[in-house]
Parts: sequence; C-alpha cells; structure tokens
Amino acid sequence: MIEQKHIDQLRAIAGPGGATSDTTTLEPHLREWRDKFHGHTPIMLLPDNVETASQLVRYCQQHNVSIVSQGGNTGLVGGSTPGLEGRTEVLLSTKRMNKYCVVDEDDFSITADAGCTVAELQEKAAEKGLLFPLSLASEGSCTVGGVLSTNAGGIHVLRYGTTRALTLGLQAILPGGDLIDELTALRKNNTGYNLSQLLIGAEGTLGLITRATFKLYPREVQKHTCLLALDNPEKALQLLASARIASGDRVSAFELMPRFGIDLVLKHIPGTSDPLARPYSWYILADIATSREDTALAADIDDWLENSFENGLVVDGAVAASLAQSADFWRLRESMSEAQKLEGGSIKHDISVPVSKVPAFLEQGSKAIDDLIPDARLVAFGHLGDGNIHFNIMQPENGDKTEFLARWEEVAILVHDIVIGFGGSISAEHGIGTLKKEELTRVKPAALLNAMTAIKKALDPNNIMNPGVFFAGHLPSTDCGD
Ligand code: FAD
Repeated sequence: MIEQKHIDQLRAIAGPGGATSDTTTLEPHLREWRDKFHGHTPIMLLPDNVETASQLVRYCQQHNVSIVSQGGNTGLVGGSTPGLEGRTEVLLSTKRMNKYCVVDEDDFSITADAGCTVAELQEKAAEKGLLFPLSLASEGSCTVGGVLSTNAGGIHVLRYGTTRALTLGLQAILPGGDLIDELTALRKNNTGYNLSQLLIGAEGTLGLITRATFKLYPREVQKHTCLLALDNPEKALQLLASARIASGDRVSAFELMPRFGIDLVLKHIPGTSDPLARPYSWYILADIATSREDTALAADIDDWLENSFENGLVVDGAVAASLAQSADFWRLRESMSEAQKLEGGSIKHDISVPVSKVPAFLEQGSKAIDDLIPDARLVAFGHLGDGNIHFNIMQPENGDKTEFLARWEEVAILVHDIVIGFGGSISAEHGIGTLKKEELTRVKPAALLNAMTAIKKALDPNNIMNPGVFFAGHLPSTDCGD
C-alpha cells in the first residue's frame, strides 16, 4: 500500500489535470495490449512539463514510493503495467508531455517530447521532405519515451538501425529527481560515459526520459514493394544477399511470412486478399527504396527478379503497381499480430539469431515444438534482414486457451535454449519487462547480471523506478512508501 498522505501530496505537486484515480480513465492504462497483464494503481500522474515530472520523481525517491513509467502502453512484456506481482506503484504517464516536436533541416535531426508518438515524428519529418525511419505496427500509439526505453526495432532496422542507432541524445530525470540534459544534434561526442545510451533499452529502470533528439534521413521518394513466394527460408536468405547487392544496398525492409500467417490474416482481417494466384509455403515482403527518382533502380530490380526466378530462388511474385497495392501487401504483414490475437492463445518469442542461422533455427525450433505439442500451430515471421523472428506458437485448433497458455514457461525455455545454442538473444525487440526476467537471470552470464545490478543500485539505490523489471529478486522492494 502507498500511504494516502503520499497520494495526496503527489496529486498536489501534479497540479490541476495532472493526476487521476478515476477507475474508468485508469482501466486502459492497467491492461497490456495482449491482455496478458492486468495491473492496479492508486493514482496515475500526468505531468505536462519536465519541472513537474522532476518534482514528482524526487518526491517518490524521498518517500520510497515506486513508479512505473508509461508511454503508449503498447509494450508487450508487462513493463508498463503497474501493480504486478503484489507490488503497489504509482503510474507516471507521459501522454501530456507531447507538445514539442521540431525538425532541424540543417542538422538532419528531430527533437521531440517523450509523449509524442512515432507517427507524429514521421509526419513532422515528411513535411520537410525528410524521413524518420523508425516504423512499427504500433507507431500510431507508441511514444518517444517508450521506443527509447525498449530500443524498438521495426521494419527498417536492416537499413537505418534500431532506435539506439537513431538517437543523438536525450533528456531524462534520474531516479533522484535530477535532470540530465544530453539533448544534442552532435554526431560525435567522446566525453566519457554516454548516459543517453545507458537509458536506451533500460525499460524505465534508470529514470524517466523526457525528450530526445534523433537522426533524420532524406525521404524515400521511389519505393518498389515486392511480394515474393519461395519454397523455404534458406532461399529467402540467399534472396536477401542478392537483393542487397543488386540494389546497391537499398533494401529498407525484408520480412519473412509463412503461409499459415497469411491464412490467419485472410480469415480475421476484413478487406485483405490473397496476394498471389495460389498459396505458397513462404513469402518475402521487401521494400527497395531510394531518395531520388532513379530509373536505373527499376531496371536493376527487374534483372534481379528475372535471375531469382531463373535460379529457382523465387517461384512466384508481384511488384506493387501502385502505392495502394504496396499498402495492401504491407497490411498482410502488419496485421499478422492482430490476426493471431483474434485466432486465440499464442505463446510468443521475440528472438534473434545471426541472420545466417535463421533457416537452421527455424528448422530446429519447429521440430522441437512439434515434438512437444504436436497439434500446436507455428507462426514464425518477421524481420529476416535482422535475424529477428517472432517465433509464435498458436494454441491447437479448438484447444483450451488457458490450458495452452499455462505452458508458456516450459515452451519458452525450450525455444530460448535453441536460440542460445545459435548464439542468439531471447529478446530482439520487446525487451525483458516482468515477463522474461526469470529467463534473463537463467541465460545471462553472471558477470553481466552483476554489472547491470551495480548500475541500477548506483542510480536508483532504493529501487523506485520500474522495480519489477529486469531483476528477479536481486534488489530491495520499496512499494509501500517511507
Ligand atoms: P510503453 O508500452 O508505455 O512502455 C514500454 C516500456 O518503456 C515500459 O517499461 C515503460 O516503463 C517504459 N517507458 C515508457 N515511457 C518511458 C519514459 N518516458 N521514460 C522511461 N521509461 C519509459 N516493438 C518493436 O520493437 N518492433 C516492432 O515491430 C513492434 N511491433 C509492435 C506491433 C504491435 C501491434 C504492438 C502492440 C507492439 C509492437 N511492438 C514492437 C512493441 C511496442 O510497440 C514497443 O515496445 C514500443 O517501443 C513501446 O512504446 P510505448 O510508448 O507504447 O511504451
């Protein structure tokens, strides 16, 4: 429990409109997108400026009140849900910290408040003929603070890098309430530890990010969207290498999709249609793009496709003839998570292995799942160009959802051990949150875990910032206030 006097005091600091305990308003903030986590909180704080946010964090630190930070609440690992595992935490939402979003055309940069959505940054950049390349299906809701804290990836990592690679600097409130300001458009700055980079991917455990500056790129004005059918992921890997070479490394997205994933989209998402005349086992959806009109690129793509058909890498395919058709192809990919949600229970893994190992991982992983739960249905899809596969296992048709989901841990251990065997990571995009902290402890070398714990203790000795994230039982728990 958090004492009422602290809640009253936080409400007073937050000011008018800066806090709520209304259950209807709170409800969507307490539920995770997949409905896997349901939390609770006595109060949601909604500061609309950095000074108020800093005072709130400082008060919480002084009185041992725990905080969970939240942006768009599209995270998938329970990191933004307060009140899990018996804790009580105040929820600090950045949704009113969304006023500043400014492009600097000379610096090719954009600076935005933590609560601005990724879609807003994309739009602001596009207005100036520039590209903010981060792109993910949740971009209409996920925020600057959220994508930084989870080091989000998305479909353009192959060409432009993750959120970490796009970040020039940030401003944040440390757990004690101090503001660090590393907002900068500097491309080079070697002056000791880079705290901005430390906060990226920290999932809210080391402070509250309040603003950030990102790199921009020239806008892609000519884009060729190719939807290609192929026999197996091994061929997809060869196709990726040949596409990079043939296009002069202008592949900005390269996504792998299995037929069963397409079937689920066609079944559950209205307005979608089968992209090719007949079904195939695997598909690649690729964007090859350039920032200036380039007729030679179209010819290079034609040659590449012709060669790919001739040497048997591709068995069928289409290049989008219009922006509308490109959007239709992408809808199939972007709807794949939603379609699984509508189909039933799904045990999800957001893993990565070296790009070259994806086919071998898929083969070994599918066999292991087949042996464990023969009638489970695998939907393995995602960012082949980054070696990042959403290795999702759907409940058996007509099976019991709760019974199936109860096997999450058993299945995850099986899959993660195979991933580790290939030198991979148990989280490529979504992070650890509360969902995978036991697994993190199981697979991460002790020396690395010890270093993480030391950093956390140095910056947040009372463990008030997102105390349920990352660390499985290593740190003090302080959810009661004082
Ligand atoms: P939240 O969910 O609110 O929070 C996520 C984490 O960040 C929490 O630990 C929270 O405490 C912390 N946090 C939030 N704001 C701050 C802040 N200001 N300061 C400090 N900590 C903060 N992810 C990918 O990487 N790639 C994808 O392709 C992708 N696709 C998705 C598709 C769908 C349909 C959905 C629902 C999610 C997808 N995600 C993807 C996951 C999710 O969108 C990302 O993790 C995103 O970065 C979360 O942003 P958010 O603003 O919603 O953060």
